Amino acid sequence: MPKEFQFQVSPEAAANEELLTQQVAKNLKISSKDIQKVVVLKRSFDARQKSVKVNVKGNAFLVDEDYIPATIELPDYPNVANKKEVIVVGAGPAGLFAALQLIELGLKPIVLERGKDVRGRRRDLKAINVDGIVNEDSNYCFGEGGAGTYSDGKLYSRSKKRGDIDRILELFVAYGATPDIMVDAHPHIGTNKLPQIIQDIREKITACGGEVLFETRVTDFLIKSNEIQGVVLQNGNIISANKVILATGHSARDIFELLHKKNILIEAKPFALGVRAEHPQELIDQIQYSCDYRGEYLPPAPYSVVKQVNGRGMYSFCMCPGGVIAPCATSPGEIVTNGWSPSKRDQSTANSGIVVELKLEDFKPYHQFGPLAGMEFQKAIEQKAWRLAGETQKAPAQRMVDFTQSKISQDIPKTSYVPGTTSVEMGEVFPGFLSQIMRQGFTEFGKSMKGYMTNDAILHAPESRTSSPVRIPRDHNSLEHLQIKGLYPCGEGAGYAGGIISAAIDGEKCALKVAESLSSIVS
Ligand code: FAD
Repeated sequence: MPKEFQFQVSPEAAANEELLTQQVAKNLKISSKDIQKVVVLKRSFDARQKSVKVNVKGNAFLVDEDYIPATIELPDYPNVANKKEVIVVGAGPAGLFAALQLIELGLKPIVLERGKDVRGRRRDLKAINVDGIVNEDSNYCFGEGGAGTYSDGKLYSRSKKRGDIDRILELFVAYGATPDIMVDAHPHIGTNKLPQIIQDIREKITACGGEVLFETRVTDFLIKSNEIQGVVLQNGNIISANKVILATGHSARDIFELLHKKNILIEAKPFALGVRAEHPQELIDQIQYSCDYRGEYLPPAPYSVVKQVNGRGMYSFCMCPGGVIAPCATSPGEIVTNGWSPSKRDQSTANSGIVVELKLEDFKPYHQFGPLAGMEFQKAIEQKAWRLAGETQKAPAQRMVDFTQSKISQDIPKTSYVPGTTSVEMGEVFPGFLSQIMRQGFTEFGKSMKGYMTNDAILHAPESRTSSPVRIPRDHNSLEHLQIKGLYPCGEGAGYAGGIISAAIDGEKCALKVAESLSSIVS
């Protein structure tokens, strides 16, 4: 039996196998010569003390034990080329993991994706960054891998179901992610690594007889007697199937509009909205690690802040250490920000969404849009940001202290946001109540995180696509839409996920329910 251990080590020891083995031996009161292999199972940083420590938990295999390295392999996928077809709309994490699960269950997924494959998508990302041209089908939100492809690839979830999370992490490892994601408390993959993993997933789907069609936008649903019959594509073609997993993400406004127009039940859903703040990474390191210089062994520090302000939560969202702020608009005439990081998180700035939770009552000025009121609220802010910053992809920006003092910044330094910024009084971008909460919130953050509130931090607006402004209601048990049989609202856009992991888990859940309903029809 391997000997279990759990204790704290220095960051240097955590990064060096030999040093770690020595410390494990010391801790277990044995000689390091008696240890064949140290296997770390969990690793997390503890920055609460004067010098940062790393919690490590694992197993030490002794020399006379049979040590077999753990390997993670792909499931045994059958060929489904001639099997029952299931349409999956959207190739984000929800759609792709639904497709993989369908194959495992012996069904043939036909994945329809409005955007391009990961390679083709790159050109459109360049166009929005460099020329300010937004392609409505291919951008940071739309295209192979969905909104998660060109992201930081943070893989944590608030889900309490460890088994579900581990299954998705294992699949990511089997498709090429570093096994470290199984060990780290806050795993991430990085923008440079994600596209290849996504491409390998797609190649597996097609190798097993599934189909993945790019530049294939769904524009209508075929419904007869409240049962789905198939979908209509932008070119007028029809694809028939009586099971459709709808995983189109939180930015597919045309899908929400279509559902509403067809009197298919949808509901307004509260979400969160605010700004993206960028600090020098060095400053965040100093604050988080209480040191002048991070050194060689510590990763660029993340941070997490949350405060209650006027009865609402204001909190950091999708924080990217060593990252870049990205232009994430999905239509011309709007500004949307979000962030990404390479796997090494080695850029000089740290960015994070800082958002305020919204309530349904905030959408009242847009009540004429019914369940789309939240979406219209979101759209109005994104369009205002575009007008105020000069009608390009430049983002409205303000220094943090200036914002809290409602003072327009004299100058804005170059930030990681490639399209550039325009100095704007942020108060003009947001409704008054929101600006007021953010001003107070930043002041509070500055008190609990000394150094955070600084004019070296630049706010970019808006961070508006935090989660879906609409919920597509589904039956709790069957996961089918409440009115339309055979339609499975899935993932973040339908309101059942908030991130890569939870979207992937929801994709698998919907696929399982599709298979379950088909087997009950057969039996
Ligand atoms: P999406 O990923 O949004 O996928 C939906 C897909 O449907 C898209 O590819 C879209 O093109 C397609 N589609 C839409 N309409 C149609 C149609 N009519 N016909 C055909 N196809 C259609 N989450 C994390 O957990 N960690 C992170 O580090 C992280 N960083 C992010 C960074 C950025 C820049 C962005 C934009 C998001 C980030 N997120 C992150 C959020 C995460 O990407 C999403 O939560 C996740 O991708 C949601 O998955 P989904 O499959 O439900 O939807």
